[in-house]
Amino acid sequence: MNQIIYPIVFLYGIVIGSFLNVCIYRIPKGEDVIRTRSHCMNCGHWLRWYELLPVVSYLFQRGRCRNCGEKLSLQYPMVELLNGILYVWIIWEKGITPEGILLCILSSTLLVISVIDLKTFTIPLGLNVMVFFLGLVRAGMELERATTHLIGMVVVSGFLWLLYWLTKGKGIGDGDIKLMIGAGTYLGVTNSIFALWLACFLGSILHGIRMKLFKASHQLAFGPYLSVGIIIAALYGQKLIQWYLQWMFP
Ligand SMILES: [Zn+2]
Repeated sequence: MNQIIYPIVFLYGIVIGSFLNVCIYRIPKGEDVIRTRSHCMNCGHWLRWYELLPVVSYLFQRGRCRNCGEKLSLQYPMVELLNGILYVWIIWEKGITPEGILLCILSSTLLVISVIDLKTFTIPLGLNVMVFFLGLVRAGMELERATTHLIGMVVVSGFLWLLYWLTKGKGIGDGDIKLMIGAGTYLGVTNSIFALWLACFLGSILHGIRMKLFKASHQLAFGPYLSVGIIIAALYGQKLIQWYLQWMFP
């Protein structure tokens, strides 16, 4: 059974990943993500079906446009592969369950948010609304824990808003606050605090390395770190917190 499921889940992941690339390119420009046909960014050449195969087309064309030879961004196959790997990882942990499928949708949304944030230092509002909607669905799936989802909505976002207010908007972006309203609703109280902690931990280490080695700017896109924190917290938060509490208070 499993041997059949994972390659199919991976295929779904990379096909949807190729749609995510369209979102990453078009949402910041306010373009339609459904109706416009895909074309080469350089020569306008309309892509045929065999030029739209995720990962495969990129490899087959050696990363260049078939018409004009312009180099295609490595972002396309990377996003497709990453989305495929994320789906396999999530279904591996959660199975093909409503929770697993919802988390796949959330992680795809977070992948789009992360790449757009890395490129533009902003998170489009529509994507944060999508995360909030997924948070509400998650809360609806476990109404017996409604309180934690409700408080989760404000616990981290409220803290970030305070930081925003104290630093007059220099310490944190308003997009990050809105992201944590939705993600907090999804995760509940302890998991959303854990997600923020993990994001700060990873952000301080990785961004420090990037500034030293690659002369990255001091401006930090926090969205990608929050996204990693959110996905890890959704997958393992409960387990890790229990393990930590048992270790602290045996
Ligand atoms: Zn071209």
